[in-house]
Amino acid sequence: MDAHTLPVQQKTLQTHELLNQTYQVLELRSRRSPMQELISTMLSHRTTHADEVKAYNTILERFGDWEGVMNAPVEELADAVVTTRYPGQKAPQIQQTLRMIKEERGEINIDFLQDMPVEEAMAWLTRLPGVGLKTATLLLLFNFKKPVLPVDTHVFRVSQRVGLIGAKVTADKAHKLLLDMLPKDAVELFNFHKHLFWHGQRICTWYSPKCEQCVLQSICNYYQDVRAKGIDQEGM
Ligand code: SF4
Repeated sequence: MDAHTLPVQQKTLQTHELLNQTYQVLELRSRRSPMQELISTMLSHRTTHADEVKAYNTILERFGDWEGVMNAPVEELADAVVTTRYPGQKAPQIQQTLRMIKEERGEINIDFLQDMPVEEAMAWLTRLPGVGLKTATLLLLFNFKKPVLPVDTHVFRVSQRVGLIGAKVTADKAHKLLLDMLPKDAVELFNFHKHLFWHGQRICTWYSPKCEQCVLQSICNYYQDVRAKGIDQEGM
């Protein structure tokens, strides 16, 4: 059997193993507080990391703390996050999210998610305006070490090209499909996420993937069905 026609779960585990060998296997450590992760991830949608950081720092400089951000005039908050895409949408979503947290918990703090079962925590987070599966899974994995898998644009693209998910699968559906094939261990899932993210940024880039440098060639559908046969479809 050709490696690229392996059963999809086997291929997923092989992808994980090959990328573990290629990239550094990381420990899972929270890089920022849960509230910082939540608001930063909301700001990061379609925005570079530098512009997201600039917006995050600006709102705390201008409004002092989360209470200040929540009570600021919405147009002033939109102006403070203007370095991000869609500031006019993000500002009211952030304020509404802060209000919902305050109303339900009595304070603007989401540390309680640590003690909540994973399904319940996912449901709680995805009710907040502007919080989708990607934001919720990033927060639960990075900050609370829950066994979930964030699927961003890089993880999604590489998974589709290799053939871990079908061409018609949406990013939202990919979260569960990929998770079901992987060990339910937060450190493993964190490394799978980070490695596919790096691989998508550096090698399996959107416009012109560097297949000649890629360790996944032998199992990759796109490489075996398109590149190796010379039927190149740039920027698939
Ligand atoms: S072989 Fe090419 S298309 Fe496949 S994962 Fe590697 S870089 Fe991406």
